[in-house]
Amino acid sequence: MITGSPRGTSDIFGQDIEYRNFIISKAKELFKIFNYREIITPAFEHTEVFDKSIGDSTDIVQKEMYTFLDKRGRSLTLRPEGTAPVVRAVIEHKMYAENLPLKLYYIENMFRYERPQKGRMREFWQLGVEAIGSGQAFIDAEVIWVLNALFEKLRFKNLKLLINSIGCTKCRKEYIQVLKNYLSPKKDKLCPDCQYRLEKNPLRIFDCKVDQCRQVIKDSPKIYSYICVDCRQHFNQVTDFLKTLGISFIIKEDLVRGFDYYTRTIFEIISEDLKSVQNALGGGGRYDKLIEQFGGPDIPSIGFAVGLERTYILMKQLKLNFVIGDNKKIALVILMDRSYQKYALSLIKFTRDNGYACDLSYEIKSIGSQIKWAEKNAYDFVIIIGEDEVKTDSCTIKDIKKFTQYKLSWKNEKEKIFKIFGS
Ligand code: AMP
Repeated sequence: MITGSPRGTSDIFGQDIEYRNFIISKAKELFKIFNYREIITPAFEHTEVFDKSIGDSTDIVQKEMYTFLDKRGRSLTLRPEGTAPVVRAVIEHKMYAENLPLKLYYIENMFRYERPQKGRMREFWQLGVEAIGSGQAFIDAEVIWVLNALFEKLRFKNLKLLINSIGCTKCRKEYIQVLKNYLSPKKDKLCPDCQYRLEKNPLRIFDCKVDQCRQVIKDSPKIYSYICVDCRQHFNQVTDFLKTLGISFIIKEDLVRGFDYYTRTIFEIISEDLKSVQNALGGGGRYDKLIEQFGGPDIPSIGFAVGLERTYILMKQLKLNFVIGDNKKIALVILMDRSYQKYALSLIKFTRDNGYACDLSYEIKSIGSQIKWAEKNAYDFVIIIGEDEVKTDSCTIKDIKKFTQYKLSWKNEKEKIFKIFGS
């Protein structure tokens, strides 16, 4: 017996697939309306794509990346997030030469070596958008609008949109000095990781989950109070647009998010109903300097990512049901003798060719037990083929939900089957 799937990974099947596809289909409808185009990037990148962007003192780069050497000794990393690969691709293919802003979306699996729990996995899926090439506050509001609209479409309630500004590279530098001055006398109370962060990148202390560090950081000066006039004006414009759009938000002055590339607006959408610690469904922010930092032109950009697993965990928990597919009826063909298979085949081919889902019951058991099986497996109709049907070139259709029954001459009136399916 081989062992199960690696810790933190999962097989996705059954109901989860239905939920997942539903979320994706709603997201794709929205992306079309907001004019986003799909991009697919490789599952692994050169390691520098991530450590140069996410930041080498972040949890992701320090502890969570799946990094390996290939057979030629090159360092590669399974993508832990979607923004850096999209930015790499935009620069590589000079996509910025087209009209800006460039609006892209992705639906991809991510890999992070985290401690697995419900809603926190080592392989998980994210759908995300990147709006590349505009520094306008309008586009911040538009990106947040897409995120909000997605959860509205999924009929979620009790969500909170948290928003903050972490300023630009200039004002952040000044704030970091203030934070350092505040934390340095308390250094001994910080965990070893945070003591290192204090030297290297004090903002990352806000990501720490250790209780004692959280206590120390709780009353520290917050970046929101230190952003410059331009950043404040930008932030005020964003919140003004959000108010116009009727999107409620909470300003969370100590929100920083665990990526170094963020500038100005950052945001997160959390659920009061996700009782676990992992209550964030999605989040994002501006990354105005990342493209330049990767060697591309100076192009401000913004994006977000939503976790698919957490979203459908919550949908299931809230019992948010939905109608799957396009409502076409599903029929099961039941044979009373295996010798009727050939007869059944032309019937099934006709219905399937016309776009109706139709299956054959492979086991020849009693009609009663086959109908029971059809009910259990959510079929709407059974089509019975017995000696009489074959002799008279017909079929008997039973609507197992409405308990009605029809007999059709297959030769002369087979189209009528679609009327029955549509009834
Ligand atoms: P992040 O890329 O860290 O900003 O995360 C964006 C969203 O992806 C989160 O709000 C979660 O919904 C999801 N996510 C992040 N990490 C994980 C994980 N380890 N397992 C499952 N979902 C995750």
